[in-house]
Amino acid sequence: MVTNVYSLLASHSTVKKGIDFIKADHEKTIAEQKEICEIPAPPFKEHVRAADYQKRLAALGLKNVQMDKEGNVFGFRPGKGKGPKLLVAAHLDTVFSEGTNTKVKEKEGKLYAPGIADDSRGLAALLSVVRAFNDTGIKTTGDIIFCGNVGEEGLGDLRGVKALFRDHEDIDGFISLDGENADNITYLGTGSHRFEITYKGTGGHSFSAFGRPSAIHALGRAIAKIAELKTSQEPKTTFTVGVISGGTSVNSIAAEAKMQMDMRSNREKELLELEAQFLEIVKAAAAEENARWGSDKITVDIKLVGDRPAGVQSKDAVIVQAAWASTAAVGLKPNLRGASSTDSNLPISLRIPAVTLNGGGKSENNHSPSESFDPTNAYMGPQRIFLAILGLVGVEDGKEPLLPKRK
Ligand SMILES: [Zn+2]
Repeated sequence: MVTNVYSLLASHSTVKKGIDFIKADHEKTIAEQKEICEIPAPPFKEHVRAADYQKRLAALGLKNVQMDKEGNVFGFRPGKGKGPKLLVAAHLDTVFSEGTNTKVKEKEGKLYAPGIADDSRGLAALLSVVRAFNDTGIKTTGDIIFCGNVGEEGLGDLRGVKALFRDHEDIDGFISLDGENADNITYLGTGSHRFEITYKGTGGHSFSAFGRPSAIHALGRAIAKIAELKTSQEPKTTFTVGVISGGTSVNSIAAEAKMQMDMRSNREKELLELEAQFLEIVKAAAAEENARWGSDKITVDIKLVGDRPAGVQSKDAVIVQAAWASTAAVGLKPNLRGASSTDSNLPISLRIPAVTLNGGGKSENNHSPSESFDPTNAYMGPQRIFLAILGLVGVEDGKEPLLPKRK
């Protein structure tokens, strides 16, 4: 069914016009990608880039362009009615802290700047797709929301998409424009939970106060047990204590000790099981350290600092098939990726069809100061997004939407 729809779309004259338009729009899209990159957007400080992106969406004539309370900016392209509603988004935030120089440099045809690919490319590709809709005037059955969202990276913790799916219960599908290679299709979400654990006690002199429990010793007890945890290989489930700190001096009983723990799984059930074991260990370590010295002074403070749900959907899901067919239709070899952590995690965990597709081109060293972007044939990115959207929301005088309405 999906393949039929895409071979039909490929021969649809208006659709073809849009595909050609996107190729011709390449230079403009690259110029816009550079402009967007040069507006810094550190985590939780996406506002300036968001306000700029909101203006770009409004200038393209989208309806009801707005910024929500979380800081996401979006606008609507209504369909003819009774169709599904598809959210298409690229993330505004970068991993780079305030003060990072994001001026774009060009060398041998490549662009260099922190954030030039991730996700300036997705943001620029999305605008090119909107222009293709404008240029062709193509009428769709379903509605499309085009969005620049906040909070994808690190401790942003998917706060942008969490707000979008909380505020808009009628969204039937999601495409995120993000990732490294033009042919990738991400359809599985690795979930992660992150904790900061702090042990506290009274502390004291190592000699004269000997006999008091130690926060560092409690932490050590916990880590020794965490290190022995067994997790499944399939679905891949992992953990690490990534950072520890604490203590005052070599001759003090530690009054405080901290660790940061990251745990991940490709399935929510395994993630929650691992978390339960971890929390039990963390509490037991405080109790054991107290018991060792006949004390009750060691306490433990447990703080969840990261929460991304895991999500699994079938390879045969319509949205995955649509992504596959549209990737092939523009001349790329589709590549179904293993699970990773993207904005799609959240909708997938809510059982809303979602994929993460790259905005085109090829990037290297994402998240590092030497991040680079190779724009060769990058227009194939927005071309496949354009096609994927059309198949999912349906085209007037073409095919019915592939994406089912949830309600
Ligand atoms: Zn990204």
